[in-house]
Amino acid sequence: MFPVTDDSETIVDCLTRSARAAGVEVLTGVAVQAVEASESRFTIQLKENKRIVCDHILLATGSNPLGYRLAASLGHELVPPVPSLFTFNITDPRIQNLAGVSVPSVQAKLLVEGHKPLEQMGPLLITHWGMSGPAVLKLSAWGARMLYETQYRGTLQVNWIPSLTVDELRERLLGAKVEYAKRAIANYSPIPLPQRFWQRLVSAIGVDSGLRWADLSKKALDRLLQELQQGRFEIRGKGVFKDEFVTCGGVNLKEVNFKTMESRCCPGLYFAGEILDVDGVTGGFNFQNAWTTGWIAGQAMGE
Ligand SMILES: Cc1cc2nc3c(=O)[nH]c(=O)nc-3n(C[C@H](O)[C@H](O)[C@H](O)COP(=O)(O)OP(=O)(O)OC[C@H]3O[C@@H](n4cnc5c(N)ncnc54)[C@H](O)[C@@H]3O)c2cc1C
Repeated sequence: MFPVTDDSETIVDCLTRSARAAGVEVLTGVAVQAVEASESRFTIQLKENKRIVCDHILLATGSNPLGYRLAASLGHELVPPVPSLFTFNITDPRIQNLAGVSVPSVQAKLLVEGHKPLEQMGPLLITHWGMSGPAVLKLSAWGARMLYETQYRGTLQVNWIPSLTVDELRERLLGAKVEYAKRAIANYSPIPLPQRFWQRLVSAIGVDSGLRWADLSKKALDRLLQELQQGRFEIRGKGVFKDEFVTCGGVNLKEVNFKTMESRCCPGLYFAGEILDVDGVTGGFNFQNAWTTGWIAGQAMGE
C-alpha cells in the first residue's frame, strides 16, 4: 500500500504528527549512549551527559550496532546479526551492460557448497553489478547465513522459462528450426525473453550471431536448452555494504514475551522492530514487524 503522494515522507509525517498529537515529546540528535537498570528504574544516558530516568524503556533501534550493545548490556543474548535481502554480485558476459532488463518469472536455485540448494520463483532483474529482483532477494533472505559463512560465494542456477518442461522446450526449439528455418537464431526467439538477453544466451552457446535456425546442430540445441533451463552464474559477493534491506539476527526471541514485547530478562524493558531476531522477505513484512511489535509494546507499556 502506498500513500497517494507516492512519497514515503508522508508516512513519516503521519507518524510524527500522531505522536505529537498524543503528547509525545520527541528528542532528536541525542543518541542514547547507555542504559542502566536499577531498582526497577532505568537511567538513560544521552549524548552531552544528559540523563533521563524512567520506569519503562522500549529499544527500537533497528539494526544499529549500538542498540544491540544496549540490549546485551541489559542481559540479553544476541543471535549474531548478518545482512539479509541483498543483491548478488555477478560478473558475467551474459548479463554485462544489460542493467534494467528483467524477466517476469524465473525459477532460481542457490547452490552453496556443503548446504542444501534453495529454490525460489519470481521476477529477476539484471543490475549494474549482477542480479536482483524478488527471486534473488528471497534467496538472499533464506540463504543469508550460509552465504555469510562462505563470504557470499555460490552459484545461481536459473531456469528462464520454468513454465515449460525440458521436453516441451525442446519441442519449441525444434519447431523454430522448421518454422523459422531461414531466420537468424539471434534475431528470433521462440520463447518470451528480452531480445538483448536472448542474443547473449545464443552467443554464450558459441554459435555465430548470423547462424540460421535450420543450421543449428543437435549439440548446439542441447547447449541452448541447458542455458535456458539450467544457466549457471557465479556469485562473487553481495551488493555494497548497507545496501541490504534488513538484518537477520538480533535479540533472541526466547527472551521476549510476545504478548507484551517485554524482556524476560529485565522487567520494564521492551523491544520492537528489527532489533529482534525477526527478518521477513520483501513485501512489507519488515515494516509490519516493526509496527506490530511497536504497537503491542506501546499498549503494554501504557497500561
Ligand atoms: C533501502 C531499504 C529498503 C527497505 N524496504 C523495505 C520494504 O519495502 N518493506 C519492508 O517491510 N521493509 C523494508 N526495509 C526494512 C525496514 O525499513 C526495516 O526493517 C524497518 O524500518 C525497521 O524498523 P525499526 O523501527 O525496527 O528500525 P529503524 O527504522 O532502523 O529505526 C531505528 C531508529 O532508531 C534510531 N537509533 C538507533 N540507535 C539509536 C541510539 N543509540 N539512540 C537513539 N536512536 C537510535 C535510528 O536513528 C532510527 O531512527 C527496507 C530497508 C532499507 C534499508
